Amino acid sequence: MSLTGKNIIGFASSSEGQVTLKAINPSTGENLSTDFFKATINELNSAVEKADKAFQIYRKKSGQEKAAFLEKIAEEIETLGDTLTERYMAESGLPQGRAVGERGRTIGQLKLFAQLLKDGSWVNARIDTALPDRQPLPRNDIRSMERPLGAVGVFGASNFPLAFSVAGGDTASALAAGCCVVFKAHPAHLGTSELVGLAIQKAAIETNMPDGVFSLLFDDSFEIGQELVKHPSIKAIGFTGSYRGGKAIFDTAVARPEPIPVYAEMGSVNPVFVLPKIIQEKSQSIAQNYVASVTLGVGQFCTNPGMLLLEKNADFISALETQIQEANGGVMLTTGIKDAYRKGVEKSENLSKVIGKGKTPSGFTAVEPVLFHADIDTLIANPHLSEEIFGPTSIVVEGNSKDELLAVAKSLAGHLTATVFGNEEDLNEYQDLLEILQQKVGRLIINGFPTGVEVCHAMVHGGPFPSTTDSRSTSVGTGSITRFTRPVCFQDFPDSLLPDELKSGNPLNIWRLVNGQNEQ
Ligand code: NAP
Repeated sequence: MSLTGKNIIGFASSSEGQVTLKAINPSTGENLSTDFFKATINELNSAVEKADKAFQIYRKKSGQEKAAFLEKIAEEIETLGDTLTERYMAESGLPQGRAVGERGRTIGQLKLFAQLLKDGSWVNARIDTALPDRQPLPRNDIRSMERPLGAVGVFGASNFPLAFSVAGGDTASALAAGCCVVFKAHPAHLGTSELVGLAIQKAAIETNMPDGVFSLLFDDSFEIGQELVKHPSIKAIGFTGSYRGGKAIFDTAVARPEPIPVYAEMGSVNPVFVLPKIIQEKSQSIAQNYVASVTLGVGQFCTNPGMLLLEKNADFISALETQIQEANGGVMLTTGIKDAYRKGVEKSENLSKVIGKGKTPSGFTAVEPVLFHADIDTLIANPHLSEEIFGPTSIVVEGNSKDELLAVAKSLAGHLTATVFGNEEDLNEYQDLLEILQQKVGRLIINGFPTGVEVCHAMVHGGPFPSTTDSRSTSVGTGSITRFTRPVCFQDFPDSLLPDELKSGNPLNIWRLVNGQNEQ
């Protein structure tokens, strides 16, 4: 498969516009091959209109049919082989191991959703059969299940060119739900996006999906993104990126004549608490693994641990100093991300102390890792120190007592994760900390680091605002499917008119809640 630079509008390609975009190699600063056509408003409208029309067919596809589509997408991505991983590396500056790993994650998550669809029980079928003789009033026959929302808009994340991009978690969950997707490609990886977009297009044709089930648009000016969110036929948005971008998209969505849900994952600081007893036992290994987690992938993860809190411990700070000096920086994804990192680090340097800095490799967007230090009063007096700096940096905050640490925990905004390191004695003594943190985050981790988010059924990758715009959802794992559905209730329907999931004979053999009992 070779690159064309054209927008994908259902089963067609389109290059109406006059403006073109180029992908940049962040390691060298050079432009990469292929001019990508910035989508026009007319192309956007065509994509959404096709998606809206296709939805009337796609929403009726069975779980087996949608599963076959997702599995075919996975197969087509695999078939792209080195063409895909080489373009990924050139556009992102990320190494081959990461490219191959992320491709595996992307394929794996498509297959996991396919499995969910084949099982079919995810629809949350609930049946309360009629009670005609109930006194004082009879009960009607009432049945409900999850149904897809319609055409949805999805924005690609810069930091996961595959797993949170064109065929990533948001697209996989929306397609699994029965929604058609209009995807706004991230300008940091245009070629990777087109290759995967073409793989989805091919899979859609070969599995007999409707024209318009998926479209892919290029832009770097917010124009297409804003118009996508405003389009009246778009019924929900999936987004991963900055707070500024996510909040702007959310504000546009709620200002529409018909407001729509926006599932924006906007990053977080992911505080790590290290309790007093465990630090005496494992100071060196916690310091080593913490620095490894901060610098993993040049710190470009939304689960990067951006703050570590502990009761005063000079030995631990000195262990961190040794570790950070040995740590490597790397090439960041874009010049914009590098500039934002440098600016954030410079501001922190003026407001706190530097524990140490790591090494900077060569490369156009290369940066060095930095660890900062502050006491609790300094942290509270300078809100910037509690904000995310996207990249390989973190702040270590020392307090004088448990009460001080609890006060910081209570003052935390919403985050994706929080971590507590403690031995049994610590954890018993700090149970109140765990209670506070449950109210602040989507995922609470004991004795591990937050980087590395398993794609599974129980995962929650979300959290209270400002880490996301909707804390009731996850953007990783199969639980993410219900972001793109809503419950629909069928009252007194004849059996023949009910969806198969709700028919009395349970022809799909799925798990259902029947008169309050789970049964198959
Ligand atoms: P971004 O600036 O939020 O952009 C992400 C996508 O959203 C882009 O496609 C962009 O459109 C679109 N967008 C942004 N603002 C918009 C607006 N006002 N209206 C319509 N569309 C808008 O994120 P980024 O480019 O990936 O990186 C910038 C910063 O985001 C980083 O420095 C980091 O702080 C943060 N970030 C966070 C995460 C996370 O894990 N949550 C991941 C990546 C980055 P265009 O393509 O048209 O510009």
